[in-house]
Amino acid sequence: MTQDFKGQIAIVTGASRGIGKAVALALGRQGATVIVNYHQNSAAAAEVIAAVQAAGGNGQALQADVSDADQVDALFKAVVKDYGQVDILVNNAGITRDNVIMLLKPEDFDSVLETNLRSAWLCSRTASRAMMKKRYGRIINMTSVVGIAGNGGQTSYAASKAGMIGLTKALAKEVASRNITVNAVAPGFIETDMTAGLSDDTLQKAIAAIPLGRQGKPEEVAQAVLFLASSAAAYITGQVLVVDGGMVM
Ligand code: NAP
Repeated sequence: MTQDFKGQIAIVTGASRGIGKAVALALGRQGATVIVNYHQNSAAAAEVIAAVQAAGGNGQALQADVSDADQVDALFKAVVKDYGQVDILVNNAGITRDNVIMLLKPEDFDSVLETNLRSAWLCSRTASRAMMKKRYGRIINMTSVVGIAGNGGQTSYAASKAGMIGLTKALAKEVASRNITVNAVAPGFIETDMTAGLSDDTLQKAIAAIPLGRQGKPEEVAQAVLFLASSAAAYITGQVLVVDGGMVM
C-alpha cells in the first residue's frame, strides 16, 4: 500500500531481523523516520538502517531490552529528545521457549511473558504520554494466531500473545478519545529465524494446515502494519488483523 508517512516518527521494537525488519523497511520507504530497536544484534540493526537510508528514508538504530522498564524509559526519552514526538509504535519484539508444559521452568514462562507482553505494555505506556500530548498515535501489537487458537507446546507463548490481544482492546478503549488507535496483527506461520529451526516434519504439517499452501513472508505482515498505521485505518481500533494464509478462521 502507498501512504506518505513523511514527518512521522515510528518506533519498531525488535526490528533488527524478521518481521520487525520488514516493518521498519516498509515504513522507512514510505517516508517515516524509523527507530530500529534491537536487543543484541547491532550489526543487523545497522544494516536495516543502511537499507532504509538507501531507499531515501531516515532512521536510527537504538539498543534496548524492551522488557526492562528503565531501558524502555531511556529509549523513549532519547527518541523524544531527538525527534520531539512518537507517532507510530509497533510492539514487535518477541521470543519463544517452546516445550510441553512439564518440561518448562517458571523462568521460561517469565522470560516469554516479559519479552512479549510486559514489553508491549511498557512501550505503550511510555509512548501514550507523547501521543496524548499530540492527540495522535498509532499503536500496533504483533500478536500471533497462537494467541487466538492456542498451540500445544507453546503454553507460555500463547498466553503472552493472548495477553497482547487483551492489552490491545483495553488500551484502545482508554486512549480513543485522544485520537490514538491501538490494533494488533496476528501472523500465522512466517519465514523468519523464529521458525527456521523447525524440523522438516513440523514444517510440512504446518504448511498442510494453511489453505494458501505456503508460509507467509515478513513483507506480507508488514503490509498489514502499514495499513493499520495509515490514515486509511483512522476509524479502526481494538481489532486483530490476521495474516495467516487462512490457517485460523
Ligand atoms: P525473530 O526473527 O526471531 O526476531 C526477533 C526480534 O526481536 C529481533 O530483532 C530481536 O533482536 C528482537 N528482540 C528479542 N528480544 C528482545 C528484547 N528483550 N528487547 C528488544 N528486542 C528484542 O522474530 P520474528 O519471527 O520476526 O517475530 C517478530 C514478532 O512476530 C514476534 O513478536 C513474534 O512472536 C511474532 N510472530 C512471529 C511469527 C512467525 O511465524 N515468525 C508468527 C506469529 C507472530 P536481536 O536481533 O537483537 O536479538
